[in-house]
Amino acid sequence: MRLAEIKKLQIDPETHAYLLISFLVLICSLFGIATRPIEHLAFLWPANAALLAVFLRFPNLNLKGGWLGAFSGYMFADLLTGSYFTLSLFLTLSNLISVIVSLFFIRFFNINYKYYNTGFTFIHLFGIFAFAGCLASAAFAVFTLPNVSGSFMTKANLWHDFAMWWTGEMVNYILVLPLVLAFPRQKEIRHYFKNRRQRRHKATYYLPIFSILPCVILTHMFVGPGSLLYPLAALIWVALTYRLFTVTLLNAFVVLMSYHSLTQYYLDQMTGIDSATFISIRIGLFMLALSPLILCIISQNRNELFKRILYLANHDSLTRTMNRHYFFQEGENRLKQAKKLSFSVIMLDIDHFKRLNDQYGHHMGDQVLQQFVELVRVNLRSNDLFARIGGEEFVILLWDIDPGEAQYIAERIRDIVEKTPIYQATGKPLHITVSLGILHREAPQTQDLQVLINQADKALYKAKHLGRNQVVLAS
Ligand code: GH3
Ligand code: MG
Ligand code: MG
Repeated sequence: MRLAEIKKLQIDPETHAYLLISFLVLICSLFGIATRPIEHLAFLWPANAALLAVFLRFPNLNLKGGWLGAFSGYMFADLLTGSYFTLSLFLTLSNLISVIVSLFFIRFFNINYKYYNTGFTFIHLFGIFAFAGCLASAAFAVFTLPNVSGSFMTKANLWHDFAMWWTGEMVNYILVLPLVLAFPRQKEIRHYFKNRRQRRHKATYYLPIFSILPCVILTHMFVGPGSLLYPLAALIWVALTYRLFTVTLLNAFVVLMSYHSLTQYYLDQMTGIDSATFISIRIGLFMLALSPLILCIISQNRNELFKRILYLANHDSLTRTMNRHYFFQEGENRLKQAKKLSFSVIMLDIDHFKRLNDQYGHHMGDQVLQQFVELVRVNLRSNDLFARIGGEEFVILLWDIDPGEAQYIAERIRDIVEKTPIYQATGKPLHITVSLGILHREAPQTQDLQVLINQADKALYKAKHLGRNQVVLAS
């Protein structure tokens, strides 16, 4: 059946949630069962963490149908692999409790999990997973399962089973949840592939990824009390270099490899099962994996903040054009670097702006400035510089352009400003005009930007004297 035909079927949301979730839980459970040594707990059990992550990421699946789907998925996977009915039922309930309790506490503490990557949200989420969801599910399992016929759990082993379930679940959560939460959205994936060509990284950009490998091999070769921490420095490097999703992938890889190496080593070393060792490995891995994720989130938040502050420092707060300082910095840079380019400087000044302010008020004046800027902006190309250098005075640096074209752009701006009405709050239209002075130069040249601006400014003065609302070319 083709996708369009499926869409035509118009499955209702409950059935949709049921089908998707039951399939997800079934596949994850079968995977978990495949890692389960006979008569024992699974090595990896991704189903609960995956279910919770999907409910968090896609709240529209968190419906009765979704929960029923989860129940069916767990039950079916267990029964399919030859488990008893009552045992499957209590295992399923134990699994579901992990998700239910986590969701309950996320609501209870009013955690905005959508912003898992800001502030302390990530730490709070994993605090809830570890000390509520995973804990509750382990407790429920050890108090019910030993009473069920055919169970692999016994009351004598209660503490051991409890700790193994709890810590095992913590590893499952730290492996699966960040992957699903940070998995890029469709739009981000499309954006990534579209811009892949332009974004060429130096070879050194990939060094952190390659630094992971020797550390993981080291953990395999020299097992001892310190071996959990071998990959820590590489993971920190990764966390400070890449985006969160890449970090979650590499993190999962390291955790799986270390988990495998350490478990194999200690299983080979020991005859009986020493639960303390396994519990220690799992808690250690949980902590190891949590740290780079938190670090990556902090570092990304800091970078975002820095970008925002830099933007505010470089742009005019009213019109969002470049400010004087940033314009000069960028403009001078271009003049220095350019070899053989032709460029134009245009000075603009709104006519009789003081009168407009007096007549309509300062607030209306501000709105006029904003709309004027939008009118100018649509006439510019992405590599042109546009700045506000005084109250109602602006400057444009048209880059890589011949004189005729520059003059045409200036004339078009003048024309569009004259013809476009600006509406007041009352709905009445208001008309403004602008005068422009334009100067053309061939780079490289020796004069600095300020001198060029002064010459364009003289032309602007001339335009004012000639009656305003016109473009004058500097001699
Ligand atoms: P001209 O045609 O000769 O340019 O006359 P003008 O009135 O536009 O020129 P003038 O330099 O005399 O006045 C500029 C006015 O711009 C004075 C000032 O009150 C106003 N102005 C400067 N900055 C702002 C601002 O941020 N908002 C508003 N609303 N007005 C501003
Ligand atoms: Mg003016
Ligand atoms: Mg002025």
